[in-house]
Amino acid sequence: MRVLIVEDDPTLADGLSHSLTKVGYAVDCARHGEEADHMLIGQSYDLVILDIGLPKLNGFEVLSRLRRRGSLVPVLILTARDAVQERVKGLDLGADDYITKPFDLAELEARARALIRRGQYGASAQVTLGNLTLDTAGRRATLSGQPLELSARELAVLEIFMLRAGKVVNKEHILERLCNWDEDIGDNAIEVYVHRLRKKLEPSDIRIRTIRGLGYLLEQVTEPI
Ligand code: CA
Repeated sequence: MRVLIVEDDPTLADGLSHSLTKVGYAVDCARHGEEADHMLIGQSYDLVILDIGLPKLNGFEVLSRLRRRGSLVPVLILTARDAVQERVKGLDLGADDYITKPFDLAELEARARALIRRGQYGASAQVTLGNLTLDTAGRRATLSGQPLELSARELAVLEIFMLRAGKVVNKEHILERLCNWDEDIGDNAIEVYVHRLRKKLEPSDIRIRTIRGLGYLLEQVTEPI
């Protein structure tokens, strides 16, 4: 999942970026409104965390431009504790949720997960295919109820596949969801993650097929293996 953090306080932005990266999200940061506007035009995101008080363009302007372009990306705004008007205006402009500063990092993460989930899966936190279940809130996967040990990156790749189960996913799409603009992981890294996932999914009825020249396809094997 790819997240854009728009925050002019570098300490706060770095802390947020660090904690969201740790759970497997690809995170980009914008330090002012114009930069955010530019990034939102050039790249699709699964969540935007948006400060309101920003240099150049404020958060309201960034948000209203985003919605005017027809984007449905979930937006979580960061507002001052007493600023009720700010929150109302933000929600009216199309923000999906808000959190007041100073906030607890764990609470922000939970809200971020909930918004991403709503954007991708509807309200449910769990996605199931065959005997594989992915708990997007708890960030874990189980095979027939047994925990499946996955690294944050493997889980992120699996999540991308689960969202498009039965459809071909190309490497470009995986890279885009997995990496921010500063990272450069190659096709080879994707192949390694897929290789590891395949091994771990061997006991399941789920297979990751390689579609030559196109990408990968996650599917349930209905015939006896
Ligand atoms: Ca600010």
